[in-house]
Amino acid sequence: MKAFEYAGPRTVADAVQLVGERPGAGFIAGGTDLLNLMKDGAQAHDRIVDINALPLGDVVQTGNVIRIGALARMADVAAHPAVRKALPVVSQALLASASPQVRNMAAIGGNILQRTRCGYFRDAGSACNKRIPGSGCPALEGQNRGHAVLGGSDHCIAVHPSDFAVALLALDAVVLTQGPAGARRIPMSDFHVLPGTTPQRETALAHGELVVGVEVPVTAMAAKSGYLKLRDRATFEFAVVAVAAALDLRGGVVRDIRLTFGGIATKPWRSPEAENELRGKRITDETLAAAGRALTTGAITRPGNAFKVDLVHRALAGHLRELGGVR
Ligand code: SF4
Repeated sequence: MKAFEYAGPRTVADAVQLVGERPGAGFIAGGTDLLNLMKDGAQAHDRIVDINALPLGDVVQTGNVIRIGALARMADVAAHPAVRKALPVVSQALLASASPQVRNMAAIGGNILQRTRCGYFRDAGSACNKRIPGSGCPALEGQNRGHAVLGGSDHCIAVHPSDFAVALLALDAVVLTQGPAGARRIPMSDFHVLPGTTPQRETALAHGELVVGVEVPVTAMAAKSGYLKLRDRATFEFAVVAVAAALDLRGGVVRDIRLTFGGIATKPWRSPEAENELRGKRITDETLAAAGRALTTGAITRPGNAFKVDLVHRALAGHLRELGGVR
């Protein structure tokens, strides 16, 4: 591991300055992803700024908004009564993530910033455009079972690994930041960016900009939400395919719906096309099939990951039947 200096600021302003003034500096909170990346040589910093002393750990409901501080731990957010009652998809997505030990340690700010699990990215001996821009993407023709069928480019097809981010996207959450240029509110839909020709850039954050929390609207639809995650083993595993849904179903008709997906795309993926196939209609085999087709129109598959198209159709159908109580 490359040597680095360590700083432990007591205020957000100091933390932002300590990272912003040094191009090679980075923040650390739970450290459950960053330390592995640094040990593996996949990521390096010459200054680590520990933000754990900052007052960013609270979960507070004010009116129709729940604000979750960036340092709130995954396990605490998942178990929080207001989150469980008003935002079940968030609680379920967190409980489906990682292991109990990691959930006790990992902070939610870091969760939405975690890096891809692409094996080439995490192997410092492999080429990888995300780690070393311009070096190539061996996943395009190599091991790509876990890779994206939506949102990829010929520079990168890595899947974004966060379950929590997929749930936040379904609920129109907003990411709160503080940076060298001041405070920002970034809609979750704009927070992660597609790889395009610059896969090393994964979010809308500027250097030195710190995620201080997320705000999630409390709505009737959010209270009727849920998360389905399909994975290769029952715990401590990333999604092969995941579906987050929020549903407003009245008289058997879908009045409104949000559908977001994990495991299949290079960023947490919302499908307005699939939502449109269901809005104003009943949940039937036909409308579910149409929604699945709308979701994956334009998918680019490879031998290793082509199975995800059929799997996500089945996951979507099963999850919406369950959530809507439709047999
Ligand atoms: Fe790197 Fe992305 Fe290719 Fe994986 S898919 S090897 S992260 S460029």
